[in-house]
Amino acid sequence: MKRISIENDSIPALGLGTWQLQGSEATSAVEHALHLGYRHLDTAQAYDNEREVGAGISRSSVPRDEIFLTTKVWWENLEADDVLRSTEASLRRLGTDHVDLLLVHWPPSDEIPLDEPLTALTTLMTQGKTRHIGVSNFTPTLMEKALEKGPIACDQVEFHPFLGQDELLELARNRGFVLTAYSPLARGRVLEEEALRRIGEGHGKTPAQVALRWLIQQESVAAIPKASDPGHREENLAIFDFELSSEEMEAIRDLDRGERLIDPEFAPNWDQ
Ligand code: NAP
Repeated sequence: MKRISIENDSIPALGLGTWQLQGSEATSAVEHALHLGYRHLDTAQAYDNEREVGAGISRSSVPRDEIFLTTKVWWENLEADDVLRSTEASLRRLGTDHVDLLLVHWPPSDEIPLDEPLTALTTLMTQGKTRHIGVSNFTPTLMEKALEKGPIACDQVEFHPFLGQDELLELARNRGFVLTAYSPLARGRVLEEEALRRIGEGHGKTPAQVALRWLIQQESVAAIPKASDPGHREENLAIFDFELSSEEMEAIRDLDRGERLIDPEFAPNWDQ
């Protein structure tokens, strides 16, 4: 498995996303993913499955220190005390004394200065409750501001062949953080894309595998596809035995149509 370097550490380039995995399905998905060889798991306070993700980890035979575990603080918990309290609750639910990456899930509203959650995250890192800190859904402008406030190791954003992230990618490479691609399969839409199917045929791979390979073949990019289907989980991991040519990489880059699938009312202004 390819790994991406971050501050004295590294993060597996492919992880399992767990949004909308609930109950026993979430637990067995995590246990199965670890059995297959996944070593990177993505959850969040808002997914209401931290307990089940933790149960999947403890049911597996993989030692905790071999797993890169990410959770996220919900945007309504971004006052400093709420960050600290809600993270303690996350750790209890996950059944671990630390996570590997703790993210601000969405930028704070105007009433809360960016300093407030980022200082609290840094405190949690100093206390050993998270090994790294980061953000999610931060635009390049917000990311520049965040990088002034603390050692931000990651920005997790929507990124797939239909939504490029050139500006953030350049910033990630210049400033040394990981860009983690969420909804990397465009929530299933990549399956219908003829260009991905054609490229995949040449490699004996599916459109989903081509989309994931395209992401993780780029410097500083990780991807966290969600799969409730065990066969999909296995398929998504089988992307480290082939390489896309520079022409193929470019052809996939040309599919960018600025198609954003995740845009809730509390989202930032994406153009700033
Ligand atoms: P996604 O991973 O792009 O797509 C998931 C969909 O693709 C599911 O319907 C899944 O079906 C299907 N799929 C997976 N592998 C497949 C394969 N090999 N062949 C065919 N279909 C396949 O979408 P997502 O869940 O929105 O994003 C992934 C993760 O990113 C989330 O789970 C979450 O951890 C994270 N995320 C973060 C944020 C944020 O604000 N930070 C927002 C959205 C998502 P089955 O389930 O039936 O297998």
